[in-house]
Amino acid sequence: MSAQEQAEHEFQVEYEKAMERIQTMPDGAVGWMLRFLQTDLEALTPTEWTLVAFEVAAFVDETGERYGGMVAPESGWSVEGVPNAKNYQTIPSRKEALDIQATVLEHLELYWHEGYTTFTFPQMTLVVVSPGEGSDEAGTVIVSAKRKAKEFEYRFVHLLAQTGDYIRRCPECATIFFAIRRDQLYCQPRCQNRVAARKWRESNKSGERKESHRGKKSGKG
Ligand SMILES: [Zn+2]
Repeated sequence: MSAQEQAEHEFQVEYEKAMERIQTMPDGAVGWMLRFLQTDLEALTPTEWTLVAFEVAAFVDETGERYGGMVAPESGWSVEGVPNAKNYQTIPSRKEALDIQATVLEHLELYWHEGYTTFTFPQMTLVVVSPGEGSDEAGTVIVSAKRKAKEFEYRFVHLLAQTGDYIRRCPECATIFFAIRRDQLYCQPRCQNRVAARKWRESNKSGERKESHRGKKSGKG
């Protein structure tokens, strides 16, 4: 094996491991996304960061089929994974990932607040490919984006459309989580219990107040 082949092989192995980590996460790609959004990327050691960088690269491919179909960005991520890397042999820089994280979090807040959010793709090209003569299949639409980071956003748009109702911020501890049930408000039973206990104490207090006289505030505590 030449040095180039060796490097390409090692890249492929790391990439496949990252893919597997995403697929084996609880809630799969959505679960990975929510963890990524809440990871302090600047606090990671170089080794830890590299694992995440491979995951970011793998995420856009892992979600491809389910979230938005084919995307062909004109360039890869900014860090070459091997010498003379092809587009698929690149990973994001920490700066690129930080930008994505900030952008996506901002959109998520807007989505929660307004019920919608708007992503802009300034240099988007759509390519329609014929399925071939005599084929019963539908043609393929390929989205061609200028920057690789836009492909991540494109996947997120579709992921949000499909799962957004279940992506929430816990009102008690502010963690962003993926709800199991539609009526699940809190990230964990622990948060729910804490709120219930507080409500119970408060309702007990206001009960006392009612008995002793409305408007006559009892001391705090
Ligand atoms: Zn919580």
